[in-house]
Amino acid sequence: MKMLKTFAMIIMIIALTVNISGCGSNNESNTEASQSINVTIVSDPDKQEDEVKNDTITIVLDPGHGGENTGAKADVNGDGVIDLEKDLNMVVANHMIKILDNYEGLHVALTRYGDDELSHAQRAAIAKSFAKETLSKTVILISIHNNANPYAQLEGVEAYVSVYDERYDWIATDLAYEMVDNIAENFELLNRGVLTRVSRRHDDWYGIIRNGIARDIPTIILEQCFMDNPKDALKVLSSDEKLYKLAETNANAIIRFFSLELKEGINEKIILE
Ligand SMILES: [Zn+2]
Repeated sequence: MKMLKTFAMIIMIIALTVNISGCGSNNESNTEASQSINVTIVSDPDKQEDEVKNDTITIVLDPGHGGENTGAKADVNGDGVIDLEKDLNMVVANHMIKILDNYEGLHVALTRYGDDELSHAQRAAIAKSFAKETLSKTVILISIHNNANPYAQLEGVEAYVSVYDERYDWIATDLAYEMVDNIAENFELLNRGVLTRVSRRHDDWYGIIRNGIARDIPTIILEQCFMDNPKDALKVLSSDEKLYKLAETNANAIIRFFSLELKEGINEKIILE
């Protein structure tokens, strides 16, 4: 009887072991995936404990590209001179910060103030270190771009957000829709909506979004129009006035989204001139 019991126990242990190792091998691939997700998303290289956050909002504007990394190239006003995306992004971001600086409860910074070539990780780290100063509960990184497509002539405005955006109550998605809709309406552009793109590692395809999310910062890539499409370029990018209007359009979307109010003593008319 005792031998029979022992035998049954051995069988049970073997069955259990087989079962566990079966799960384990399944899990291994899952674990690998979740490990790569964990590394990308949860770990925050700049994390600081015991911070007391306040109700202000921090927006970090990232003028896409810079230095040798020019971004897209196109003659946007038909004057025979090739315009570089990095410069157009900079004009828009610079004008946006001038407007947004006049609003109460909002902290705004740029990732680059000159023609600097920065990695995605550096851009996200700059956003994070600014957020550490402001201690805002809400921090958003907005990377400003203009689109181009070498294979087909495309048109319109679109934005990208993280595939894991629900971790932040969809704030980046909601703000991205506000910004995309505002541009589409003000410039009569095709509205391509708010999109996500996932990599084979199951994380976000775009480096700036991946690096923003790794630092717990909801991140938006705003592709304001297709600069290699003369129709889009003429409507949106072909003069300083249009670039300023684009910046105002973006700033107004942010102001409306967060119901921001002007700082005391600021005259709106002066700001928007
Ligand atoms: Zn770009």
